[in-house]
Amino acid sequence: MTGSPQLDGLREIITGGGRLVVLTGAGISAESGIPTFRGPEGFWTVGSEVYQPQDLATWSTFSRDPQLVWPWYLWRRKLCREASPNAAHQALVKLEQHLGERFTLVTQNVDGLHARAGSCRDQTYEIHGNIDYFRCVNSCGPRRPVPDLPHVGEDHRFRTAWAETLECSRCRAWMRPHVLWFDECYDENNYRFESAVEAASTADALLVVGTTGTTSLPAHMLQIAKARGLPVVDINPNDNPFAHAAIAGPGTWVQSSATAGMSSVLSALSIV
Ligand SMILES: [Zn+2]
Repeated sequence: MTGSPQLDGLREIITGGGRLVVLTGAGISAESGIPTFRGPEGFWTVGSEVYQPQDLATWSTFSRDPQLVWPWYLWRRKLCREASPNAAHQALVKLEQHLGERFTLVTQNVDGLHARAGSCRDQTYEIHGNIDYFRCVNSCGPRRPVPDLPHVGEDHRFRTAWAETLECSRCRAWMRPHVLWFDECYDENNYRFESAVEAASTADALLVVGTTGTTSLPAHMLQIAKARGLPVVDINPNDNPFAHAAIAGPGTWVQSSATAGMSSVLSALSIV
């Protein structure tokens, strides 16, 4: 007895030894209080200038004025660090432990909450990066965790006390946030692009949690899933392209929040 007949198809695939790829987006972190940053919450005022996220989250702006972009990222990182993983993040850790190597998590979120919940780094593809890390603009060293810096968020200005921390210890160039910017392309080395495509190409089901699929890699993964006839299980309170694919194909749309939907998935799979 599962109590969720609509998830019977997913249960059959999992109990039959199938592989699952999970795709998550901002909706799973909304319940942890993480703003999307794409809307008004991301606006940033410096002096008389108001910047939108689309202005700041670009290589073009960073390369011209890193001292404008870094305070915004350090403030966003602080908000992410102050949030905690929620029951949906934890449910995905349980699912991963249950499925082992049959599980892959692809996330668009840069907040690091999956990692902090305990998701295995090797099986988690952060396709838009992780705001907790930075790397040299010349790629001359590995990415490293961003250390805590004083006075972050107190105002929107760059502090000279941060300068030494935000320069590469090898080549003295700027370190940059380890995130994919609007004017940059996916790649394997930083963002696991090919691995994410491979996961969609070899999975037996696609579970989507809290994303509308507007960015190109998730939309591409959906196309692969549809072409292969995979069942798509979409957990989202709102209508979106994944819900349409789920309904049109052999999948299902679980019209609920991420935490409630993941709780239904765990009970359908008898995972406690
Ligand atoms: Zn360097």
